Amino acid sequence: MAVADTRPAMRTMQVPMLDLQAQYRPIRDQIIEVVTRVCDSQRFIMGPEIEGLERELAAFLGVKHAVGVSSGTDAILLAMMALGIGPGDEVITSTYSFFATAGCVARLGATPVFVDIDPVTYNMDPAGVAAVMTPRTKAIIPVHLYGQSADLDPIVELATRAGVPVIEDAAQAIGARYKGRLVGSIGRLGCFSFFPSKNLGAFGDGGLVTTNDDDLAAVLRRMRVHGADRQYYHRVIGGNFRLDALQAAVLRVKLPHLAGWTEARRRNAARYDQYFADLGLTDRVTRPVALADRYHIFNQYIVRVPDRDAVKAHLESRGVGCAIYYPVPFHEQECFAFLGAAGTGFPHAESAARETLALPIYGELNADQQRYVVDVMAEALNRAA
Ligand SMILES: *Cc1c(COP(=O)(O)O)cnc(C)c1O
Repeated sequence: MAVADTRPAMRTMQVPMLDLQAQYRPIRDQIIEVVTRVCDSQRFIMGPEIEGLERELAAFLGVKHAVGVSSGTDAILLAMMALGIGPGDEVITSTYSFFATAGCVARLGATPVFVDIDPVTYNMDPAGVAAVMTPRTKAIIPVHLYGQSADLDPIVELATRAGVPVIEDAAQAIGARYKGRLVGSIGRLGCFSFFPSKNLGAFGDGGLVTTNDDDLAAVLRRMRVHGADRQYYHRVIGGNFRLDALQAAVLRVKLPHLAGWTEARRRNAARYDQYFADLGLTDRVTRPVALADRYHIFNQYIVRVPDRDAVKAHLESRGVGCAIYYPVPFHEQECFAFLGAAGTGFPHAESAARETLALPIYGELNADQQRYVVDVMAEALNRAA
């Protein structure tokens, strides 16, 4: 039945989960040049590289203000600090995301309130948000997981009716669109990450907060430097949330390539879809669903198989990198046991945590490597059957 069975004895290849070298090689000279420029200037904190990047990113993302920060985690923390969120406040978010989304809420002494996901997109279920809104709700944080926008219209509508801000966790979704609009420009605040594995990755940590609100932008900029308007005069308590000039310089080289890199990821996602169909695996492997009203940037290409752990072990034994994002939803994390949320009804997040697997999807991946990945998937499924 499966085409793979009739193919010659399978070859072995190494396909890493991520290959940053392949992206770096063609831009190496430019990178070295700007890093040298920063080194020669000996200007490492704030300054023209940060200002230039912020201008360029504000234009790229279609927002009034883009504030460079030290990481995606700090972007979320700073966004909530700027809104004055603290003890006694509730912040609604998805139970299924990278740890930072909920961790930042708890670090400020506020209470994370979890919502289950939509089983098709893995994003926050808006109906779940409506069910947990209370007078203590001070923000809603939808996460654009894997690079596809959450269903923002009903979430923004609920938030607006309650007078509560939406903070978009767009760490995995730079350049993604919802009904034509770029994510990070739709909520009150948008948070981005430049962690090296994100679509726009720095050479270390970095992040960004976006907003169209002038007053909030001023608060973000002040709180980024310890709450000081001028040095050593502190109006409010902030922190050191600055982006390095070296990182900004690297990101300015990469930004003009981002749209092309995203298109390459989308092409590769379509190619995986085609290969899964060619091998007759579509009823055994659930592939990502890119909704028609969204532009998916494929930070991750997520498949779903019942026997996930065995499939993962087989892929790894055949040289194919893969990863689980994420094995434990927030409501089951040990550090959140005090919330008493475990076992209170998040069936979709729990089954996603058991069944999903991320395959390599960077733009430099070639057709031969992708065919090998899908061949090995077929091999794994035939072994399990
Ligand atoms: C990566 C990520 C973050 C945190 O970004 P860092 O730059 O690693 O601190 C937050 N939320 C989500 C959904 C992420 O994927």
